[in-house]
Amino acid sequence: MSVPAERTPETPPGTAMLELTDLVKHYDSAGEPVRAVDGISLNVGRGEMIALYGPSGSGKTTLLLMVAALLAPTSGRILIDGREITSLSEREASRFRLTELGFIRQSFDLMPGVSAIDNAVLKLLATTRWRDAHRRIEPLMDRLGLSGRLRHSAETLSMGERQRVMIARALSTQPSLLLADEPTGSLDSARSVEVLELLRELARERAVTVLLVSHDPLAAGYADRVLTLRDGRLHPGSGPPDSPAPADRPPSAT
Ligand code: ADP
Ligand code: MG
Repeated sequence: MSVPAERTPETPPGTAMLELTDLVKHYDSAGEPVRAVDGISLNVGRGEMIALYGPSGSGKTTLLLMVAALLAPTSGRILIDGREITSLSEREASRFRLTELGFIRQSFDLMPGVSAIDNAVLKLLATTRWRDAHRRIEPLMDRLGLSGRLRHSAETLSMGERQRVMIARALSTQPSLLLADEPTGSLDSARSVEVLELLRELARERAVTVLLVSHDPLAAGYADRVLTLRDGRLHPGSGPPDSPAPADRPPSAT
């Protein structure tokens, strides 16, 4: 089915790029508490790619939002490159997201009516002049197979092309940590394999630490380490092989 995964042992504390300790997020939804993330501890090494496999509703997006400093945990610690993320000010958090983090969100935040390349440089433009941003992103667009689509308006791109524009934007600032929320959620299996291979290769080339969450069993084949999230808790391994649990697959990447 896929490339065999190289398994690496748990990264020892202190050497991790990402260190989660007893991380908890409980939502209070109409008086009913939801234990979305319920005590996660995890160390991810530099340059390591983790596939976090879990069915819909298992807490994947909640976990990534907390690591991206977009959502405050109920309790627990998040260290990124030794720095506590939960205590950053708004300004520091946005700086961190801009310069150190790449986040491929579950929804495509592409601006309609704006070209592929101008969508891809949006993040770079915060720190770089337009002309330099274009010059810097072009080799990456090329690497992602988008050089023939640079001037095409976002809404005319296929789903696979849109996903690759989102990858270009996430990697444009050369982040040391890349979060990917169901990056193959709206792609067929051939396109999914392409995107997963690309993420794997780009992560290796650039020594980026990748935390990829998915309910796509294909994703597990590309990671150094595979973990399963169930009801907000981590379990080693990817569960039974070839168990896509179709009931958990939502109709779209929402
Ligand atoms: P996944 O990404 O694995 O599908 P989520 O992290 O989106 O899971 O959601 C985990 C659980 O938390 C689900 O039961 C979901 O309904 C709930 N949840 C997510 N966001 C909120 C929110 N803002 N308020 C209340 N409950 C939420
Ligand atoms: Mg989600």
